[in-house]
Amino acid sequence: MPQPRVLILGAGPAGLGAAWRLRVEQKADAIVLDQRDDVGGNAGGFELEGLPVDYGSHRLHPACHPRILNDLRNLLGDDLLDRPRHGRIRLRGRWLHFPLKPLDLALHCPKSFVAGVALDTVRKRFSVTPANGDSFASVLERGLGRTICRDFYFPYAVKIWGRPPETLSATQARRRVAAGSLGKIFRKIMGIVPGLKAPGAGRFYYPRGGYGQICRAIRDAAEREGADVRLNTTVRRLTLGSPHRVEIVREGRVETLEGDHVWSTVPITVLARLADPPAPPDVIEAARRTEYRAMVLIYLVLDQPQFSEYDAHYFPETHIPLTRLSEPKNYAARSDPPGKTILCGELPCQVDDDIWRADDEQLGRLVRDALAACDLPVRARVLRTVTRRLPYAYPIYPTGYECCFDRLDEWAGSLPNVLSYGRQGLFAHDNTHHALAMAYGAVDCLSADGRFDAAKWSEYRDEFRTHVVED
Ligand SMILES: Cc1cc2nc3c(=O)[nH]c(=O)nc-3n(C[C@H](O)[C@H](O)[C@H](O)COP(=O)(O)OP(=O)(O)OC[C@H]3O[C@@H](n4cnc5c(N)ncnc54)[C@H](O)[C@@H]3O)c2cc1C
Repeated sequence: MPQPRVLILGAGPAGLGAAWRLRVEQKADAIVLDQRDDVGGNAGGFELEGLPVDYGSHRLHPACHPRILNDLRNLLGDDLLDRPRHGRIRLRGRWLHFPLKPLDLALHCPKSFVAGVALDTVRKRFSVTPANGDSFASVLERGLGRTICRDFYFPYAVKIWGRPPETLSATQARRRVAAGSLGKIFRKIMGIVPGLKAPGAGRFYYPRGGYGQICRAIRDAAEREGADVRLNTTVRRLTLGSPHRVEIVREGRVETLEGDHVWSTVPITVLARLADPPAPPDVIEAARRTEYRAMVLIYLVLDQPQFSEYDAHYFPETHIPLTRLSEPKNYAARSDPPGKTILCGELPCQVDDDIWRADDEQLGRLVRDALAACDLPVRARVLRTVTRRLPYAYPIYPTGYECCFDRLDEWAGSLPNVLSYGRQGLFAHDNTHHALAMAYGAVDCLSADGRFDAAKWSEYRDEFRTHVVED
């Protein structure tokens, strides 16, 4: 019996992971389609001056499911490095090690901040906060107290999602903030102390060839098993039927592919606009009201071997427009290219706003000014400034977003043999290992005769709802 054919939209971790597992388990033919010229989606990367760089700071977190981690270890071999985290976060004008460390906190944490947290802890014992009408702000303030929220999470939220924290849904706090209470923060900090150390605490995995190496290795393995991965291929239309027909454009040529199943990892809002017959008007309206935050990545090539010893700097303060700065060379402890290093500034924005449209010169200056404003001046010559733009960096969850997403999700779920999943397809602020877990789950639900077990997928969906993002 011929195997079913699955057309997979998107060659990020979710799409490639599924293609690879479908072929390994001999369940289906897999064709992966992506508009970009390389695999990896937001978890991809590119080479700049001989150094692999990522789309912003990316690490593989030890929270990765052991089965997936084991598969990645087999694919990457010795190239998957186990590295200590060594970052810094700025708090009231001071730098603290990130992840937080007890001794560093005791020595460098501003005393006014410590006093604020202590007062919040006392206040918390005596206050009763109503649980109804929750928002990102109220959930976090109840769990962490005013000081941590006002100095850290709230200004960060404004930059990342472009919205005041009071207007964001409580779901954003539950899904996005791993340490949502003082107890959890305390356990995280103590989990770094030798003797009390939680497995993986303070460490991360990183491929020697840059984060994009993960998806390139999965693509190579999938192709070895017979998957067909087509890049520079934009999906323009999905004509629903049996079989489904996907219209693609590649190098100006239009082609139609047929498949028994379509697994979409493109933004669910895009899927709603691709479908033919068109999605009902209320679904199109729900797609219009469902928003993703964009990001501009600004890479400065510096004429110096190393800018700092840190892998990443985190900037919660609102007067610093960047959210994070990474130095890719430090992620894999590389010494090449000799005499040069690269910085990558992350600047959240909206597609087509002033930041999105700014030129490289303006954006390079913005990074240099931001660094100078927090005592990290760029003293070396800037040899080049290069930028990249991610239109779908983060899902935004304003209060009440659930009804729009639920309507989209319900519509996508009603399409026979169409699956919307991955970070963009489930509108989830997830890590790479979560996107891979979704891919593995989808493959598990498909039987070799081409039937998709919807009940099992629904159980997986419940599990995905428990994912909490690691930073
Ligand atoms: C700044 C930043 C930092 C991050 N840091 C980490 C980290 O440290 N650790 C971690 O684990 N995760 C991190 N993540 C998350 C990680 O990048 C994602 O979890 C992962 O990329 C999700 O994979 P995906 O396949 O679901 O989606 P994506 O990677 O978004 O892939 C979707 C693909 O669909 C393609 N596509 C869209 N529309 C079309 C179309 N019409 N036709 C064809 N192709 C289309 C896109 O080109 C893209 O390649 C970070 C994300 C960001 C933005």
